[in-house]
Amino acid sequence: MSTVQGRLRIAVQKSGRLSERSLDLVRDAGLRVVKGNNDLLYRVENYPIDLLRVRDDDIPTFVADGVCDLGIVGENVLEEVRNGGPTAEVLMPLGFGRCTLKIAIPPTLAYDGPASLDGLRIATSYPKILRRWLDERNIAADIVTMRGAVEVAPRLKLASAICDLVSTGATLEANGLAPKETVLDSQAVLIKSPVAPEAGLQHLLDSIIERMAGVVSSQGAKYVMLNAPRSALAAITAILPGAGAPTVMPLAGRDDAVAVHAVCQEAVFWETLERLKAAGASAILVLPIEKMM
Ligand code: ATP
Ligand code: ZN
Repeated sequence: MSTVQGRLRIAVQKSGRLSERSLDLVRDAGLRVVKGNNDLLYRVENYPIDLLRVRDDDIPTFVADGVCDLGIVGENVLEEVRNGGPTAEVLMPLGFGRCTLKIAIPPTLAYDGPASLDGLRIATSYPKILRRWLDERNIAADIVTMRGAVEVAPRLKLASAICDLVSTGATLEANGLAPKETVLDSQAVLIKSPVAPEAGLQHLLDSIIERMAGVVSSQGAKYVMLNAPRSALAAITAILPGAGAPTVMPLAGRDDAVAVHAVCQEAVFWETLERLKAAGASAILVLPIEKMM
């Protein structure tokens, strides 16, 4: 049973790249978060739930140990702290906090594939993930573990290559480093404790997870309505991005045309609308979806 009686706990990053989007997700799932005078703990006023605000590195352990029932953390952190003990279950990717763990080198270093790393010193904040990647390729490289500022290691002659998180690549470029290998693609994920909550809270936990899944799947999803000639129905449905079976309805007084309504799970671009129009669609409307379950 989890450690706090009568309340669920969700672990989120206190301050950093994931904090804002994590809070957004919690709020979009219908939880009214109130900031108390305790900086570590935010209360949810409409449910018996607290948000535990901690360093992202602590989140996997808190969730694995049952100190928190749910957590929001990057896959990179989850992978790095993974040990032999009980682990948190990954429920779903959340679509934000995307980044890539990459090996990068200065241009002066000759590079001809992963084997070129053999015998080098590589600086990283992710020694376990990097070690596994190197071992899988039979590369014997030294790993220098740094907590931060990994990108300056080559300039300081601490290492000849680095393995660091990259999103736009601007930091690498600013430090004169070129990305060479992708070690891990990462994004924020929702994780759940292997420790069940007390019986009275199980239903609430399930419902919060379901709502979060709804929030995530409605992100970027659009509701598309259009009119189509019956003869072009198949062609038009094929163009709608990520739509399942659309709803097809008759149009009053028109035997040759129908109305088509569809939930598109992928982005609907202007190009898509132009293709729909070229295929015979008219009166095309694209609407945002607020909630989906
Ligand atoms: P904390 O104080 O919580 O330990 P931190 O400094 O480890 O914070 P942040 O820099 O806030 O962490 O990054 C949190 C997470 O955001 C990363 O672990 C990663 O999953 C994700 N992320 C997305 N883009 C990037 C990026 N360009 N660089 C680093 N992390 C990124
Ligand atoms: Zn951290």
